[in-house]
Amino acid sequence: MRQLNRNRALVLFSGGQDSSIALAWALQQFDSVETIGFAYGQRHKVELDARQNVRQILIQHDPDWKQRLGPDHIVDLAGFGEISETALTRDTEIVMTEAGLPNTFVPGRNLVFLSVAAGLAYRRDIAVLVAGMCEEDATGYPDCRADTLKAQLGALRLGLDADMRLETPVLHITKAQSWAFAQTLGGTRLVDAIRIHSHTCYKGVRDVHAWGAGCGACPACQLRAEGWQAYVSALSPMDLD
Ligand code: ZN
Repeated sequence: MRQLNRNRALVLFSGGQDSSIALAWALQQFDSVETIGFAYGQRHKVELDARQNVRQILIQHDPDWKQRLGPDHIVDLAGFGEISETALTRDTEIVMTEAGLPNTFVPGRNLVFLSVAAGLAYRRDIAVLVAGMCEEDATGYPDCRADTLKAQLGALRLGLDADMRLETPVLHITKAQSWAFAQTLGGTRLVDAIRIHSHTCYKGVRDVHAWGAGCGACPACQLRAEGWQAYVSALSPMDLD
């Protein structure tokens, strides 16, 4: 089995709340951190712009993080977008399907992303994949569940014959807890920077709200708004100083 460099990490980075916090965590943990993003026919260039903005604010946040953050890789998966006939890739309304999944679910999307990321990591001698999957989403997205991730990592290790690892720092915490986690990584300044610059809205809207930018009505905005409200409510008066 090939030994890859365990001080190097590749973050699957969408520019959303969870993967931005995962990127900040990785910058604290590893000597060298690269990012990978996927263009797969998303309707919203705004997501790709948010990625660049978040990378910028993280290198401004901490001189050590600036030293550690390496290149960004954008992989064009337009062909995959063509087979994903859902609200993310076509102009259709976001609704819950009969299977109990939001139709923003792109079947197998995270399986594909992890496989492509693993291929890139192997070529760049990176042992650690970092992904911002979150259990709160996992109820709707079966390829974000812990069992799925464990099985896929096993397949990747066998298929690459390499000691690849997978870190999911926000998998088992809520959206509210992930803000508290960001607070421990970089204080209120980091929380505010990620809140302002990250993007989660399915509709690509950047209207300004207390919890960040978005339309305020789609499922992603609702989840984010609820998480922020729960985080703020849990802060003691001392934390607000
Ligand atoms: Zn929205």
